[in-house]
Amino acid sequence: MKVTVLGNSSTTVTAGGACSSYLLESDGKKILLDAGNGSIFNLKKILSLDQIDAIVLTHHHFDHISDLFLFRYEREGLKYMGCEVKPIPLYTPKMEPWLLEKLDKNHIFEFCFVEREKMLEIFGMKVSFIPVEHLVETYALRFEKDGKVFTYSADTGMCEGILKASEDADLFLCEATYVSKEPYRMKHHLHGKEAGEIAATSRVKKLLLTHLPEKEVDLLLSEAKEIHKETDISEILRSYGI
Ligand SMILES: [Zn+2]
Ligand SMILES: [Zn+2]
Repeated sequence: MKVTVLGNSSTTVTAGGACSSYLLESDGKKILLDAGNGSIFNLKKILSLDQIDAIVLTHHHFDHISDLFLFRYEREGLKYMGCEVKPIPLYTPKMEPWLLEKLDKNHIFEFCFVEREKMLEIFGMKVSFIPVEHLVETYALRFEKDGKVFTYSADTGMCEGILKASEDADLFLCEATYVSKEPYRMKHHLHGKEAGEIAATSRVKKLLLTHLPEKEVDLLLSEAKEIHKETDISEILRSYGI
């Protein structure tokens, strides 16, 4: 498995940056994990949209789904021009009616709704959807293949689910939305120190931080590294082997 970062900002997006989206490749298959705002421009630097074999959404906040609407428009446009456009499997938590109405048009997506603790086989990978603590229904994603494990935290606060999802992961792509010195605490996001604590408790081999704030990223990294040495900041358009 290999994952390429297409967007790594939280909602405080950096100039020229992009929000959460990652391309997971395995056995020649290409799966898009989330489609945050700005990420489609990075995706198009390496692929065309018809090369995507499936899309997986962790939850429906706009910083994780905005570019899905552009995705739909482009594919629809091609259909109107007479091109053959194959529907793309879209694995997603159950959608609110307004969102489903916007996306379920012209058979651009083949919807597959996930439920609590769902485990699926996708392109030879065992994929677990594990509920985590967030403001809306959200699933961390755990991919297992040939004895290797890749976990993407989605958006989450500290919870049992994220510990379970990241257990013994070879690569743990984990959100770290703020630094711990700030005077507030969020139950639905992690700070750098918490990401490090989860990685250490779960015996993760490599921790890769994402969903980053606009400022103080170096501080956030040092907070996590103090607890889990094998930690890096994710970089846009960089690929990480698993
Ligand atoms: Zn969110
Ligand atoms: Zn988010």
